[in-house]
Amino acid sequence: MQVNNLINGQWVGADSGATFEVINPATDEVVARVPLGGSTETERAVSAAHDAWLKWRGTTANERASLIDKLAALMRRDADRLARLMTAEQGKPLAESRGEIAYAVSFLDWAAEEAKRIYGEIIPASAPNKRILVFRQPVGVCAIITPWNFPSAMITRKLGPALAAGCTVVIKPAEDTPLSAIALGELALEAGIPAGVVNIVTGDPRAIGGLLTSDQRVRKLSFTGSTEVGRLLMKQSSDNLLRLSMELGGHAPFIIFDDADMSRAAEAAMACKFRNAGQTCICANRFYVHESVHTDFVSRLSSAIGTLRVGDGTQEGVNVGPLINDEAITKVESHVADAREKGASVLVGGQRVRIKGLADRFYAPTLIDGMTADMRVHHEETFGPVAAVRSFRTEEEVVEWANSSQFGLAAYFFTQNASRLIRVAERLEYGIVGANDGGPSTVQAPFGGVKQSGFGREGGKYVMDEYTQLKYISWGV
Ligand code: NAP
Repeated sequence: MQVNNLINGQWVGADSGATFEVINPATDEVVARVPLGGSTETERAVSAAHDAWLKWRGTTANERASLIDKLAALMRRDADRLARLMTAEQGKPLAESRGEIAYAVSFLDWAAEEAKRIYGEIIPASAPNKRILVFRQPVGVCAIITPWNFPSAMITRKLGPALAAGCTVVIKPAEDTPLSAIALGELALEAGIPAGVVNIVTGDPRAIGGLLTSDQRVRKLSFTGSTEVGRLLMKQSSDNLLRLSMELGGHAPFIIFDDADMSRAAEAAMACKFRNAGQTCICANRFYVHESVHTDFVSRLSSAIGTLRVGDGTQEGVNVGPLINDEAITKVESHVADAREKGASVLVGGQRVRIKGLADRFYAPTLIDGMTADMRVHHEETFGPVAAVRSFRTEEEVVEWANSSQFGLAAYFFTQNASRLIRVAERLEYGIVGANDGGPSTVQAPFGGVKQSGFGREGGKYVMDEYTQLKYISWGV
């Protein structure tokens, strides 16, 4: 299957005709071929987005809300098809893909409502013959660059509010998962969103990113991906003083205090760690367990891991799919090997799972005990199904360990002590804290990180600040 890019309402290939393959990570089958675009195609997409913006910014909030609502309705109509496409290109189990589509739609639903609440203000002036009016206006053409781990939701979380605010967009999806983005583009056209408002370009990330950060018609870049690429894009954006939102890597600590509800903590730990085969930016990477409940927690986790089924995400009952690509599984292997070398014990898993007829990209859900601060699992994002455990004695000590990371996206802890709950939540240097909760992501909350996990917030009313700018009119009367 050959699919194309969306530029100015037209489906087009790369100028050179070149394409690249999208591979099913579970089976190695070629799912589709997509254009290998570069700066020329991106420049055209930016022109289209800019021209479209001149009209789109003048539409009423109700018109924009209604088009976003239509797009959401079409995604609901096609939810099953979109979920299957996602599993084919990304590998996550079908139930998770269905969950992601519902999550992706929730951002459109929310944005359609927010479109109607972009309010200005009137500020009392200091002179009797003046009035000060504050307007909130769309920033303009937005570049959206997204990762492969949530191929649909990471786009709608940006696209919805951008459209709601009156911005137009050029989307560059990850090369591993461009098909969910392209499917979204088809539905945007079907919904009646005007040509040029939503553009999608696939291909060479450096060339596309280079153009998006240097063309002066682009006024904002919203990026979700690794800290490394985020830093690079931020440097590239400095000449144009681009407005930026940076949703970057995480390395979440998951703390279990001695007074935790152990059954709830273990259940949350499983979901938080093994969802999407551990390939989520907010998934727990470091488990810190109080020494008095350590044996209990490790035994609960070992039993629960034993119930997980690894395999092709289209198969009934599979809850852990493949890693996204060969590089990803090699990284997971190297983290486990490093932990072993430095003295950790691998209690469960610790090797690839080879399944007849499938690709060699499955890694066994793994439990490592005896993690120490010098191990890679302790200070790098593993992005795989590996839970590493370290015992602690005091609250002071564990909060210090938790904060010792350069990352600051999500942190979790379990305790039944209300004073401790507030104390620890306040001291954790993270943008998102799950207190007795392993699944804090939700449409109405301000998702985002601190430190090297980036800046900017997505979700709720807060995201509208990312796509609007203030202007005031000082009015002499
Ligand atoms: P990545 O390698 O940084 O890629 C993200 C996107 O950037 C992809 O579309 C990629 O394109 C593009 N890209 C790569 N190099 C580029 C360049 N030089 N110029 C412009 N664009 C470039 O990250 P990933 O491996 O896809 O995703 C995993 C990372 O995302 C993890 O660190 C995870 O924690 C983070 N993440 C964060 C959040 C959050 O909300 N904070 C959410 C999800 C994921 P290609 O695919 O074509 O290379």
